[in-house]
Amino acid sequence: MAIVNNTIELYEPQFCIETSRWVDKIPFERYSRNKPTYRCPCNYTFTSKTNQAWETHFNTKTHKLWISHYGGDKIIIKEKDAEIKQLRIRIGEMEKIKIDLEKKNLELQNKLSQLIGCIYPIVRTQEEKALKEHSDSVNNIEKLNLICLNM
Ligand SMILES: [Zn+2]
Repeated sequence: MAIVNNTIELYEPQFCIETSRWVDKIPFERYSRNKPTYRCPCNYTFTSKTNQAWETHFNTKTHKLWISHYGGDKIIIKEKDAEIKQLRIRIGEMEKIKIDLEKKNLELQNKLSQLIGCIYPIVRTQEEKALKEHSDSVNNIEKLNLICLNM
């Protein structure tokens, strides 16, 4: 009994160094046995194990358009990946700055509370002193008024 290969692999074209272009190549050796099924990413519906079907598929409009953009798409994806990586690093840096600022804010709030704690009794004492002085002045004026009236 022959073992059937049920695996499905994604087709990938080959890069031609001479022309700097991606070119189609049938994904398996001719006459090879027990080969996997390949799926083409150009439309995700085409799968085949036969050379002839792949040769026909390579000439379809959808596939030709896909391979003409293949390298470019790969470069764009790499650029986007690099951009995403940079943005993630930046987010990490900003989160660190945010944590530092929150820590400083808390320290400043504690210092402010301490200052208020020190200043408040002084202000209260001064206020009481001023009220007493005012009251004394009023009493003195009343005494003077009485003295003047009795003269
Ligand atoms: Zn295709």
